[in-house]
Amino acid sequence: MDPLVAGLYAGDPEQLSVSAVFPHLKRLERIYGSVVLAAIKSRFGSGTGGSACNFARRALFSFRDGLGVLPQAIARHLADRLFLNQYVESVRRAAGGGFVVTVRQHRVAHSSKADSVVIALPAYAAARITVQLDPSVAETLAQISHPPLAVVFLGYRAHAIAHSLDGAGMLTPAVEKRNVLGIMFSSTLFAGRAPPGHAALTAFVGGARRPQLALLKPGELQDLVHDEVRRLVGARAAPLLARTHVWHRGLPQPGLDHAPRIAQVAALEGGHPGLFLTGNYFSGVSTVACVQQATETARRVQHYLASRRAGDEALSQGCELIQK
Ligand SMILES: Cc1cc2nc3c(=O)[nH]c(=O)nc-3n(C[C@H](O)[C@H](O)[C@H](O)COP(=O)(O)OP(=O)(O)OC[C@H]3O[C@@H](n4cnc5c(N)ncnc54)[C@H](O)[C@@H]3O)c2cc1C
Repeated sequence: MDPLVAGLYAGDPEQLSVSAVFPHLKRLERIYGSVVLAAIKSRFGSGTGGSACNFARRALFSFRDGLGVLPQAIARHLADRLFLNQYVESVRRAAGGGFVVTVRQHRVAHSSKADSVVIALPAYAAARITVQLDPSVAETLAQISHPPLAVVFLGYRAHAIAHSLDGAGMLTPAVEKRNVLGIMFSSTLFAGRAPPGHAALTAFVGGARRPQLALLKPGELQDLVHDEVRRLVGARAAPLLARTHVWHRGLPQPGLDHAPRIAQVAALEGGHPGLFLTGNYFSGVSTVACVQQATETARRVQHYLASRRAGDEALSQGCELIQK
């Protein structure tokens, strides 16, 4: 479990909730009574709950041109209904119903009124803007930890690496005390990540296991990862290309008390009709889980607005009858 948790959540398995991190495993345990039994049954084809062993593989998801394809496609679809570089400072209740959203662009702040608001931000950012709605929920959101995570992308000539890279990559157990959480064989997994005759590797450094490593300088991170690539897959020459991106707040860690925390956050919606929260701290960090969660939220918003419209129409018809 330890390498898997490090690979998917950059997390510490001792501190994470199984139901939040591996809802699929929890479901299999419910269906079969044990995860081992579920694995055996799905191996021999008599299971109905899906394979216990392929969930990690399914979590490896990307587009041909990278994950950025998804927000870019959504932006194209929204066209002039999308407002970029607007920093939301706060959401609060409006006097006559609905919400007031205060947004800052550069140094200028302005407020707008909205019937409904969807907060689709990381937990720490949602915490900042919900303080005026409910300081205690804001505090709960702020407590969800996001340890720093560095992503180091290295490109080599294929023949400079002894290993055939015939797999998805590797995840390292904490007991080995390695400097990487895992290394993905990006050019094996996804087309177009490296030119012919070259290999691209993506390494993850830091997370809950060793957060301080993610904060090294880019050159230090690249040296550290190259050294691990040398030991683990036999790199015989320096990389031709190196890119580093540090996420100072990486992935949310659903701790052992995650379920009551999420219940408290969900109750905020109940207390403020028209307010919706979604994001990767609810039901999984993978893009697939985020899209599912967002789709479900969009349905709830649609339902809320439709029932509000129906209520308004009924009210105006009632007024007409009274006037007649
Ligand atoms: C290093 C790394 C690698 C990953 N690799 C993969 C992978 O290979 N496959 C996969 O499926 N998942 C991967 N994930 C997970 C996945 O990318 C995230 O869980 C997912 O993008 C979260 O989506 P989101 O919409 O909830 O939040 P985000 O994508 O974080 O979007 C939130 C947006 O809100 C904006 N924002 C924040 N505060 C404000 C504010 N006050 N006002 C206005 N806007 C604000 C942010 O700028 C951001 O654009 C990775 C995550 C990390 C950190």
